[in-house]
Amino acid sequence: MMTENTVSSSSLSSKTFYIENLGCSKNQVDAETIIAALKRAGWKHCDSPDRAELIIVNTCGFIKSAKEESINTLFEFREQYPDRKVLAAGCFAQRYNEELMDMIPELDGVFGNRAPAMIPGIINDVMSGDKPVYVPEQDLSVPLRDEFLSFKGSAFVKIGEGCNNRGLSILL
Ligand code: SF4
Repeated sequence: MMTENTVSSSSLSSKTFYIENLGCSKNQVDAETIIAALKRAGWKHCDSPDRAELIIVNTCGFIKSAKEESINTLFEFREQYPDRKVLAAGCFAQRYNEELMDMIPELDGVFGNRAPAMIPGIINDVMSGDKPVYVPEQDLSVPLRDEFLSFKGSAFVKIGEGCNNRGLSILL
């Protein structure tokens, strides 16, 4: 259960974002790629949603409970931070894209999971209130990452695409 947000959007630095990562290690690699791509585009990564003007939820759509967690998390952020932009990304967003926007019209955008490094391309539309739904083509290039969400000194490497709920990843 989230606590009530007390930071007003007028006191936030511009171009600040927070990412909430759900699901498996594959999603984590995508979240790290999103972080690196936004930082290269001039955004600052915050470790708390309280200080971010953009909140990205990297969703999981594997089983019913994971889908419910994704939807509940999106609703909770939307409710707690009504003056911020909330973007759905990740597997559940990829699969349901337009349906997800219909389900939660209060969202500020939906971004599929096939090319996480392309996220800067839709952020202007998100921030201007256009509510984009973007499902890019698969990008098979090796993602550039400079922050890792695992414990210190470790990183996951994605060695396959698609969901098998085992992650198929190696912890280095
Ligand atoms: S790959 Fe599967 S288990 Fe991992 S986040 Fe996506 S839907 Fe969830």
